[in-house]
Amino acid sequence: MTSSITIVIQMVIVGIDIGATWTRIALADHNGKIISKIKKIATLQEGEDKFDMLRRIELTVRELSTQIGSDIEAIGVGTIGPLDLKKGVILHTPNLPIENVPILRYLRERFRVPVYMVNDCTAAVIGEKFFGVGRHYDNIVYITISTGIGGGAIVDGNVLFGKDGNAVEIGHVVVDHSGKLKCGCGGYGHWEAYTSGKNIGKFVDLLLREFFSADEYKLSVLSKCVESPVDLKYSHITKAARANDSLALRILDIVANVNAAGLATVINSYDPDVVSFGGAVILENPPELLLEPLKEKVVKFIINREPEILITPLGEDIVLMGAVAIALDPEVIPKKFREL
Ligand SMILES: [Zn+2]
Repeated sequence: MTSSITIVIQMVIVGIDIGATWTRIALADHNGKIISKIKKIATLQEGEDKFDMLRRIELTVRELSTQIGSDIEAIGVGTIGPLDLKKGVILHTPNLPIENVPILRYLRERFRVPVYMVNDCTAAVIGEKFFGVGRHYDNIVYITISTGIGGGAIVDGNVLFGKDGNAVEIGHVVVDHSGKLKCGCGGYGHWEAYTSGKNIGKFVDLLLREFFSADEYKLSVLSKCVESPVDLKYSHITKAARANDSLALRILDIVANVNAAGLATVINSYDPDVVSFGGAVILENPPELLLEPLKEKVVKFIINREPEILITPLGEDIVLMGAVAIALDPEVIPKKFREL
């Protein structure tokens, strides 16, 4: 007597979100539903090189797929950059001592499955299109305000990449033509140099020198938070504003103007149906102090019909979800960036 046993091998998609500090990895099914836990690992530890980083990613993917008992069908990566998409490498990053990380080749050789990569903000806007508020729209912009400021855009259903894959570097649009603050990229007057999470303290310091008196600062709660204003974080400012600190409220008013100038450039350039915001600064601070004033102020700067402006429902998973999406539907990436 013979018995037949049907073995169903479940095929899964791997999503990888490589950030400056943390890398997050998860497995998803064909509908993009996360079916493993989301594993968070350090991107690079003290004294490690780029191959230690790649090895830890590989081991984590193997660990998750063993736990689920499934085979890997494809891998998508959304990563910090700048990237050379044609070669599939992370060129260098301002915050990590690594360069020319051959992420695509490494994962393809180890797993022998298709691997696709895009930069983190491009992954995010694709995630929004597939799984978030972008589902019903063809014109979507995603903006992250976190350590830096970045974005991704979909125009008429096409994800914008550009000649090298760096089409939507919106953190580096000029919001101050007098260029008082220098950006980490070397340029002057860039949006990211003023109101990103990393630079907000330097911007407040500039405002204190140019617009406010020393007495106003001394009387403010903010002077009790840190030794020097350059060390101020968004959390200090929004907490003080909630306690009705007048200096903090006036600073946030100016911050909203700067953010509105940046956002207006984006709306005037891409004419989106919807702009979704994410990133730690947006996700971890009260919307009534950051996003709502920004929405009010942007109206005076735009020529195009006002889009819907909201906080992404995908939260901190947005890049991970975009990474899953590119593995499920690689044709969102231009052919020139899919073939090594
Ligand atoms: Zn810049």
